[in-house]
Amino acid sequence: MKCPKCQNMDTKVIDSRIVEDWQVIRRRRECEFCNHRFTTFEKRWITELTIIKSDWTKQMYDRQKIKRWLMLAFAKRKIDNEMMENIINNLEIKRQNEWNEIQSKKIWDDILQELKKTDPVAFVRFASVYKSFESLEDFKNFIW
Ligand SMILES: [Zn+2]
Repeated sequence: MKCPKCQNMDTKVIDSRIVEDWQVIRRRRECEFCNHRFTTFEKRWITELTIIKSDWTKQMYDRQKIKRWLMLAFAKRKIDNEMMENIINNLEIKRQNEWNEIQSKKIWDDILQELKKTDPVAFVRFASVYKSFESLEDFKNFIW
């Protein structure tokens, strides 16, 4: 891992710890040339996940897509980029141990659960967006 300060290629790991429920490894590194210390995170690359849509077509997981939906849900609400990234990180951590494929419905349910915890107004708004993805019956079952 290259030193971000002096670009030297030799850095050593001085500390490793597992964070976020055994899903992420955090490493403290030190540059052997300038002694600059920095942190790296190691986690499974969730973008390899394939999403199975309700019509059974498949699509690669797309973090940007989730972010666009969240921006819609949070339009004019108080949320900063970091909060939004956190929501998506939580979703990804939750699904990291999944096999290579997952139904889109599960991802949407995850988002709704995260929103419910974060912002009830955004939750209701997102739920109405979600409606266009599922049948009306599914939506009713969900909202009640
Ligand atoms: Zn350095």
